[in-house]
Amino acid sequence: MVLEQVEREAGSPARFGRRLNLLALGIALGVMGVIGASLWQSRQDAWDSAEIGARNVIAALGRDIGGNIRLVEAAMQGVADGLALPHLWDYPDDVRYLILFDRSARSPYLHSIMVFDAAGEAVADSNGIAVRRLNVAERDFFQVHRAAADAGLFLSQPFPNRLHDGATSIAISRRLQGADGSFRGVVAATLSLSAVQQRLAGIALAENSSLNLFALDGSILVRQPPLPGGAPLSLGGTPTFERIKAEREGVFTGSSAIDGSLKLYAFTRPEGLPLILDAALSTREIMQPWLRKAAILAALSLLLCGAVVVLTFLFQRELTRRSRLEAALAALAVTDALTGLANRRAMDQALEREWRAARRNGRPISFMMIDLDWFKQFNDFYGHTDGDQALRAVAGLLLDIARRPRDQAARYGGEEFCLLMPETDAAGARSVARALQAAVGRLAMPHAGSPSGLLSLSIGLATADPRLQEPGPEDALQLVEAADRALYRAKAAGRDRIEARSVA
Ligand code: GH3
Ligand code: MG
Ligand code: MG
Repeated sequence: MVLEQVEREAGSPARFGRRLNLLALGIALGVMGVIGASLWQSRQDAWDSAEIGARNVIAALGRDIGGNIRLVEAAMQGVADGLALPHLWDYPDDVRYLILFDRSARSPYLHSIMVFDAAGEAVADSNGIAVRRLNVAERDFFQVHRAAADAGLFLSQPFPNRLHDGATSIAISRRLQGADGSFRGVVAATLSLSAVQQRLAGIALAENSSLNLFALDGSILVRQPPLPGGAPLSLGGTPTFERIKAEREGVFTGSSAIDGSLKLYAFTRPEGLPLILDAALSTREIMQPWLRKAAILAALSLLLCGAVVVLTFLFQRELTRRSRLEAALAALAVTDALTGLANRRAMDQALEREWRAARRNGRPISFMMIDLDWFKQFNDFYGHTDGDQALRAVAGLLLDIARRPRDQAARYGGEEFCLLMPETDAAGARSVARALQAAVGRLAMPHAGSPSGLLSLSIGLATADPRLQEPGPEDALQLVEAADRALYRAKAAGRDRIEARSVA
């Protein structure tokens, strides 16, 4: 019973430990949550700034390339207007040259503007007063206008330009026609794709990222960095290109038609021309710096949370150790060292408690005082060690007899024991006393100093029973004194017997 009580008290550190676990878990989860949220935010930021950067590059390049082409287009319009002048062909060559080709319309991408007649023969050349000999009757940019009046501004397929060291070029052309709508030839400008390429090369790109200029059919006009050998020259029909073509302008993430890797695409049509400019940024490169940061932060926070958990564990272990120690000390304080029974102090507490409970409930309560007979002689005969052994044996018997949960056996002092029996009347107490006496009899421990030759004990009983009409004891102390007096009478009457005194 003493130990049960001690364990009940030790239960509170265990509860505290559980709360501590919850708190540590809460802290760890909180820290992880905060770090997770800030990582998510910085991932978003990395993504957003990549997107904004890509949009800006595309917008600036688009304005540059588109603006230059519009400039060339305006110069071509000037040529067309000049060609409409009557008597143009009557002027000297140098005057005609000055009328047709506006020297201010220079573009870094422009090779030359040339005029071809209805047979495809070159008749005027921005490159110089002397017209270079060239026939373009077989070329797409000539044939398209000869075939139809409404081809508008036409962009040719890329071709090696013979007049400019075979540099890859495209031609933009428009139709020349008479007042009656008849085909009179074309005016065409050739643009240097390598010059565009050089422009793109001036832009710093992360690894696995690229800038591309497409014709509307998906053919790649310019790419920075240049395409690896064996890569397709047209991306027409691939899902990514078709989406870029359909949406005209925007940003999305998709897989590359060239290497299948995930890319962030930003794209536009420069100045509304039939061209598509896109930036394809490797998502891996975009995420790389963030990933590094995330890995470090995640590792650090795991480490810190681990430390919190380990510290909590160590703290709890120490707490448990201490509370066990305290419980052991508390148990020692109420235990008799020799017999393991409750000691006098524990008995005093139990008496107070049970006395009040008995009064409150109007229930009987009995107290048994036990004293071994002729025990001084026992020690004298057999020595103190055997004496102690006998005390332990009697204590064991007493514990066996006191079966009810609320019975409290104790060593009262020296070779005296006692047993408190709540809810037990005089008759019940007497039967318990008899059982103890019988058990000691069965033990048959030799006692040469006793007239009977065996170890025996004397018992004094007292019962307080509110149901009886006699004047009762005022307090627990009187109950003990009554049992003590009964014990004295048992001794006086010859020992090895039970005397009882009711005190209700
Ligand atoms: P009585 O029949 O009148 O009780 O005779 P008694 O000799 O038992 O007298 P008393 O009750 O006064 O006995 C006290 C003796 O009990 C003194 C001591 O020798 C013995 N004793 C008390 N405490 C211990 C103990 O812890 N160990 C041992 N071995 N003997 C003890
Ligand atoms: Mg005694
Ligand atoms: Mg004695």
